[in-house]
Amino acid sequence: MSMGEPSFRGCQMAQWLYRKSVRDTAGMTDLPVGFRQRLMQEFGLRNLTETLQQVAGDGTLKLAFRLRDGEVIETVFIPHEDRGTVCVSSQAGCVVGCVFCATGHSGYRRNLTPGEIVEQVLCCQPLARVTHVVFMGMGEPLLNYEAVLRAVRLLNHETGIGMRNLTLSTVGIVPNIRRLAAEKLQLTLAVSLHAPDDELRQRLIPTQHRYSVKEIVHCCRDYAAQTSRRVTFEYVLLAGLNDSASRARQLAQLLRGVLCNVNLIPYNPIDASDDYQPPDATSIRRFQSLLEEAGITVTQRRERGLDIDAACGQLRRRLNSTGARIGLMIARGVR
Ligand code: SF4
Repeated sequence: MSMGEPSFRGCQMAQWLYRKSVRDTAGMTDLPVGFRQRLMQEFGLRNLTETLQQVAGDGTLKLAFRLRDGEVIETVFIPHEDRGTVCVSSQAGCVVGCVFCATGHSGYRRNLTPGEIVEQVLCCQPLARVTHVVFMGMGEPLLNYEAVLRAVRLLNHETGIGMRNLTLSTVGIVPNIRRLAAEKLQLTLAVSLHAPDDELRQRLIPTQHRYSVKEIVHCCRDYAAQTSRRVTFEYVLLAGLNDSASRARQLAQLLRGVLCNVNLIPYNPIDASDDYQPPDATSIRRFQSLLEEAGITVTQRRERGLDIDAACGQLRRRLNSTGARIGLMIARGVR
């Protein structure tokens, strides 16, 4: 390494950082004291400062972190008995602007670095063994491609999280889905579709990075063929907008022959005055049945206070609403 130390020091540090959740050089007790002090002076190991926590009734934890330049990002830890899933942000803000997402409304600030992405997971490791990571927090991961891929590889190699347990959720940035397919990774690709036609999708996801639903599905078909991995299509159900029988038939037609499953997410409104509402149970059942009759595998999110598989933004709104309801908040100087 460039500090004049033998190369095994790097392995020692990686063990402390990635496996033992030590984020302070003082705690890296098998490194020489002088080296630890130099590390502390010349490199800060911490990019993230925790500023806020909200805990839901089911134990799900929402964390807000301040970055070194003052930007604030959100991370979610979802416990499952003795292990946990972390939902990470890949950007501060987001350029995509999905209509039901608070992040989308507040605009884009900047890309996160690989270190800032990975550190979100490291911060959660003391809570429980992290076995799954989903890129569904703030930002569009495929618009921060290099950093996200670097983080994916670090999480896989250094923390030992299985590639299949890493899920990358995108609104469908076609050229980068193709790049990702060429990497031949075994990670899970989730595509937020939300509509089976371009006109409605454009209303719900008014991004400048626009690809037709046919282009997106076509490249997902190729992705599945190249990687042998089933693609998940996320579909947030919004009453009166995208939940009709004809939309279900359209979706079934669109996805015919694609190695995929559809994840139906009944929208979770903040309150009765929310612009969007979930369909009633009958409409949800009908939508699901029509897809299943067409041979498509469908999952529906079980009602948990906070749902790890919700599309990005939707998840955050769930968190916000749940956090507000339970009113348990430990503020430590959030802006
Ligand atoms: S839902 Fe995701 S992609 Fe859409 S605006 Fe929000 S953060 Fe961006």
